[in-house]
Parts: sequence; C-alpha cells; structure tokens
Amino acid sequence: MDGITCRYWGYNPTAVGHTASTCGDVVTNKCGPKDWKAVEHAAESCAAAEGQSPIGANFLSAVVLPNSHGVSDLQLESPLTDCALTANFIVNGYTSQVDIPDTCKSAFKATWKRNGVSKVFNLHQYHFHTPSEHTVDGYYFEMEAQHVHKAADHAYLVIAVFLKANTTLKQNCIAVPTSLECKRADFLHSVLLGGQTEAKLLAQVANVPGPQTKVTNAAAVSFDPYKELIPPMNSYFFTYSGSGTTPPCEPGVTWILNPDVVAIYDTSVVLFRKILASFKDNQLGFGGTNNRDLQPMGSRKLYYVGQPVVKNYQNRYDPQATTTPSGTLTPIIPITMTPAATLGMISTGVIQRKFIQKNLFTGSEADRKRYSDALWLAVGGSIASAVLIVVWRFRSRIPVPCPHRHAVYAACPGTDVDE
Ligand SMILES: [Zn+2]
Repeated sequence: MDGITCRYWGYNPTAVGHTASTCGDVVTNKCGPKDWKAVEHAAESCAAAEGQSPIGANFLSAVVLPNSHGVSDLQLESPLTDCALTANFIVNGYTSQVDIPDTCKSAFKATWKRNGVSKVFNLHQYHFHTPSEHTVDGYYFEMEAQHVHKAADHAYLVIAVFLKANTTLKQNCIAVPTSLECKRADFLHSVLLGGQTEAKLLAQVANVPGPQTKVTNAAAVSFDPYKELIPPMNSYFFTYSGSGTTPPCEPGVTWILNPDVVAIYDTSVVLFRKILASFKDNQLGFGGTNNRDLQPMGSRKLYYVGQPVVKNYQNRYDPQATTTPSGTLTPIIPITMTPAATLGMISTGVIQRKFIQKNLFTGSEADRKRYSDALWLAVGGSIASAVLIVVWRFRSRIPVPCPHRHAVYAACPGTDVDE
C-alpha cells in the first residue's frame, strides 16, 4: 500500500551520517525503511515491533480462521455496467497504480463476513511491487499486485495476487490468444502501459521532475481486476492482520493472499522495471526494487479459509541477485538445479527442508538420485565448512562476515552507500 507523505522516503537505507531526525529534508537524503517512522506524524507504526506487513507467509503452516464458514465469507462484486469510460493510470516514484474512478468505487465491492457481521470494502486503487512484498513458503515472485479496499469506517482490506514471469507464455499466447492465462497477462501489460505506447510512457516518466510528482494518463483501458486479474478464490485463500507496506504503514489492515499465482509475460516485468527506473530521483531500492523487507510475524497467525490444497511454490526468484535498475531481468532459477547449485543454496540457508524431503521421497528416480547426491554433498560441505570455521576462529584471523546484503550498508565499514 502506498500513501502521500511529508518527508522524502525510499527503499534504500538512510544515508550514513543521517538519522530519523535529519533524513528526508531533500530528495537526495531520503529516509530509509528503518526511519520511515519519521516521514510523517502518523507513521510511527512503521517502527512497530509487531503487526506490520509484508510477512513471510508460510502457507504450509497456516491454521483455519476461527468462526469462518468457508470461501463464501468473502464475496467480490464487479460493476454490472460501465461505471466510467476512463480510469487514471498513474506512475509515481515508487509504483504504477490504477485509481478506480469515483463513479465506480461503490460498485467494486469486497464483502467480508466475520462473526456474523458483513462489512463492505470498496476498491479504491491497485498497484504493483517488484519483487513481491510477501514471500510464500520462502519464495519471492517477480511481482505482486495489491488491491486496496476501504470500508466506510476507513478500515482497509488488501487483496494480494502473486505474479510470476513465464518466458514461454508470449509464444503460447500468440498461438492461442483466448486462454484465460493470456487474458490475464494481457490485462497486466495493458494496465502498465495505461493507454500509451512503451516509448511514449517512458518519455513521459523521464520528463517529470521527481518523486513528489507523477504521470497521470486518463485512458479508456479495461481496468476491472476482479474480472480480469484476480483468480476466483472458489476453494480457499489465506488471510492475516497486517499493515500498509509504505509510510505511514497503517496498522489493522486485513490482508487476503490469493493462493493462485498468475502467469505474466517476462516482458511485462521488464516493462514495469523500466517504467519505475525511468523516474528521476525515484524511491527504488537496490536493483530497482520497491518491496519492503519482511516484517516479524510475532504472535500473529496466518489463517486459511476454505480447503487448502498443498502446492509447491518452489520456483524462487532472488530479488537481490537478478535485477538491475535498467530493467534487465534474469529469469527465475529453474527447479532442476545441479547438485552444486543445490549445495550452494543449502549452505546459505535458502532452500527449505520440506522441498528436499518432497523431492527425495516423492520425486522420480532421477530426482531422488539428484537430490540424494545433493544432500550428501551438503552434509560433506557442511562438515568441511564447520571444520574450517573452527580452525579459522581458533587462529582469530578472520573477521565476522556480513551476513546479509541489506546489512552491507549499515554493518560493513568502508562500504559505499548507494544513494
Ligand atoms: Zn503496495
């Protein structure tokens, strides 16, 4: 979710030498995520120890939502007739967004029935993040669409849809353009363009002076995400209580996480990144990203409604390693990893135990052999690493390494700050 704020903020860490009290005065001194609490009076919840979004959603360990009666508790309704000829397609320093026209807001309804009381949330806008803000069972997706709804009492409900690039989809859609998969991918692409050609939109974006401005195209482009993007949640969905993911990080947001991942063109991801990166003084983080770091789950629970189906979300996407500000995108790391790559992932703690187990015990003979080899390599590698670490520590010559890329700026002396 996104909001207008008083001080400049961004996804990169606050510049060295600045703090929450001095950041954000000029565009070159944006407040980083750790200091978002300072960007406006209402943003204190950005620093809350619990209750914030996004989270690492572990679908495998979700529990049933108490007092739920099934998926019919959440109903989405689109307008029956055209409620507006055009919508505003907006690009600003941190996202692309579609504002639902005022004449349509009351017609886009998400009705959420809890404890016998139905509450209507109207769709106000939707926008995109890259990579996804939430992770699912440890995995990022190339993009996440967030549909922001508001009730009469100003309570928020956001429906998140995960978008996954498919490098062969375009070819398939040229052959069979009428499939539902192609229609969704086409919808996303046309919404990102907002009625413009790519060249014209990029030129428009490049010409605005900075983050406090935006590009708005009022265009007659189809903008109904209920019918054209959000997969119907007919059998189950996930929900938890969180917050907005940008300042002022409003607490008490009901999040709905759609379990059905939507395939999109890889060219759409590149387009989105190009659009964002073309924005002068944009608020993007390292590698052209606009996702907030995962927030602590604390005592909260992820719930499911309906009857979940166990899925394997094993196509991972590494936002740190595979993106550049110019929009260049390296495709997802394939499932069929070599033993050496698997060893690397295990040793960095990225791969999940359940993933290994699944492939060891239920995969094909070749899979079992491959992952069995990888497991033995991992065990051997771990023992060798442990021995080396003990020896190094004993000799007291090796400094403590930086454990995480995000920690580089804050914790590693002598590292340049990317501002
Ligand atoms: Zn958002």
